[in-house]
Amino acid sequence: MSSETETFTFQAEISQLMSLIINTFYSNKEIFLRELISNASDALDKIRYQALTDPSKLDSEKDLYIRITPDREHNILSIRDTGIGLTKADLVNNLGTIAKSGTKTFMEALSSGADISMIGQFGVGFYSAYLVADKVQVITKHNDDEQYIWESAAGGSFTITRDEVNPPLGRGTEIRLYMKEDQLEYLEEKKIKDIVKKHSEFISYPIQLVVEKEVEKEVSDDEEEVEESEDKPKIEEIDEEEENKEKKKKTIKEKTTDTEELNKTKPLWTRNPEDISQEEYGAFYKALTNDWEEPLGVKHFSVEGQLEFRAILFLPKRAPFDMFETKKKRNNIKLYVRRVFIMDDCEELIPEWLNFIKGVVDSEDLPLNISREMLQQNKILKVIRKNLVKKCLEMFAEVSEDKENFAKFYESFSKNIKLGIHEDAQNRGKLAELLRYHSTKSGDEMTSLKDYVTRMPEKQQNIYYITGESRAAIEHSPFLEALKKKNFEVLLMTDPIDEYATTQLKDYDGKKLVCVTKEGLELEEDEEEKKAREEEEKKYDDLCKAVKEILGDKVEKVVVSNKLTDSPCVLTTGQFGWSANMERIMKAQALRDSSMSSYMASKKTLELNPDHPIVKTLKEKVAADSSDRTVKDLTTLLYETSLLTSGFSLDDPNNFANRIHRMISLGLNIDADEETPAEETSDVPPLETAEASKMEEVD
Ligand code: ADP
Ligand code: MG
Repeated sequence: MSSETETFTFQAEISQLMSLIINTFYSNKEIFLRELISNASDALDKIRYQALTDPSKLDSEKDLYIRITPDREHNILSIRDTGIGLTKADLVNNLGTIAKSGTKTFMEALSSGADISMIGQFGVGFYSAYLVADKVQVITKHNDDEQYIWESAAGGSFTITRDEVNPPLGRGTEIRLYMKEDQLEYLEEKKIKDIVKKHSEFISYPIQLVVEKEVEKEVSDDEEEVEESEDKPKIEEIDEEEENKEKKKKTIKEKTTDTEELNKTKPLWTRNPEDISQEEYGAFYKALTNDWEEPLGVKHFSVEGQLEFRAILFLPKRAPFDMFETKKKRNNIKLYVRRVFIMDDCEELIPEWLNFIKGVVDSEDLPLNISREMLQQNKILKVIRKNLVKKCLEMFAEVSEDKENFAKFYESFSKNIKLGIHEDAQNRGKLAELLRYHSTKSGDEMTSLKDYVTRMPEKQQNIYYITGESRAAIEHSPFLEALKKKNFEVLLMTDPIDEYATTQLKDYDGKKLVCVTKEGLELEEDEEEKKAREEEEKKYDDLCKAVKEILGDKVEKVVVSNKLTDSPCVLTTGQFGWSANMERIMKAQALRDSSMSSYMASKKTLELNPDHPIVKTLKEKVAADSSDRTVKDLTTLLYETSLLTSGFSLDDPNNFANRIHRMISLGLNIDADEETPAEETSDVPPLETAEASKMEEVD
């Protein structure tokens, strides 16, 4: 070193931090590159900013870039930028002598389990260079000063020297890392590329990697004396023997260098949306998500005011195959602070039900040194989140204008929309606009609630729906009979999540959502109809009592129905309990304690159709002899078929089958004696005993 070398002592805490970085075992060392690139990017930001008011500041070097050069011969990794550079005073102050508040905090955080990768957030990222290097040089040129070399191999001190040995930088900084023996992998092209892609992809300046290329070339003898210089290719002779033989031609291996730009995907969000083509959004989306298809929707926006951020949100065409795998970490929205990537798994950024939205958010307000814990209560983040949800809803509304696109969207994400209705009280109304269902009037198409409402007859006050396993299972349900007669449309809901969504939605456009399989369905009766029904009910009092007696605890009550035309009876459930469909869903949930469902299952009401010949005849039979054995048998059979038509499952299909077989035998005039005696098996054990024994097990 020249005589101008000055030695400085590191501030005590910085010195401590450096030995901690050097001596503690960390496997995630690669973050050093992110930190150095981020510093380079900051330095470029600074000069760019200065040049806004004084363009001559760029005269010393017009190009703004970051260049990584691995020198495998000398095991040096160099990161160069054409940023603002450091004056000698900057070097002294910013790289070693002035204590930073983050130094101590970071060491404390480390000792209480923080990860080294958080270093940048404490404002001491530069020292992460010592994760991989045992000596670091900072060669730097600021517009206002000479070129200097800062150098330290840790050990408590650093030196600063006027640089008279290296080629002039023009402006900017070159960090030279003299790599540790066991960290040479960071000199490999592929490794560098991977790290840059992972951590620094959206840095807004080109990140170049100097790569070596070897080309074999035949040259004639007189071409051989090519001078070796910095810029020109090095020539290595490989065929000395041939040369000695004075041959005219010889093969040489030419080593040339080339630069590759690693972050081709420029930070699109920083540009004006008007200047960005669909293709560019598509390319950006693909780079961001690894998706091979274009997105279905894009929302690029900025929010200004007391809070400033830019964001691009993408709506993919397809749902990920593991969308509802709850344990999986989502890395869908990348959070940046002033172009520096912070994290891509910030749960506070977007609600769970929007877990299929991809994109980037770049905040101007969040501090760079934000920790995960801080994010959880951060007010800025809450505002960002609210805005993201709002923009997603706008995007969905836009997509809904194109029928075909919306169909794609709905096919992939209707479950999320319904989950949103369940969870997001504030946006429930807007989300309800996106719902589409098949209905008793929609044919092959699906209908929106809005269109449903326009078709409602004047008399109709509620929106009616039925839930079930499939369209086929509910399309001809007895529950629909009376509604059809009244010309009321019924929505056919077949997604398990509909059960959850509708209980939260409750109404739409001032109209109540009413489940037709639940009791208390009033169906907008007029006075006359009501009176007629009440009179009928009186006439059927005895039948209802007798049926209830036969069925026992299987049903809560037996009543006369006004909702049936063709079927003799149905089973409704309590207004606030599970519907038949819900009971099916709950039963299907694996791990569910089966004894539990017997408490939770809805109480059933058997509703009889007074106009149906079976019911009429049954009434006469009961009036004649209430203990008639066939009455008992037929009543049970009616109940069991109602279970099926009402969407429940049979507890004991064998008993049901036996009863049906007996009916068949009767129809075929087969003597009961010729058959296996059915009587012994025909009596279903009363439900109480079954339940009681279950209860005992639980106890
Ligand atoms: P932070 O980036 O959070 O300020 P660092 O430890 O990463 O903390 O960097 C310390 C300081 O060193 C920076 O604030 C900056 O002043 C200076 N610095 C580091 N790298 C560069 C660079 N490439 N060009 C200019 N200044 C730099
Ligand atoms: Mg930094």
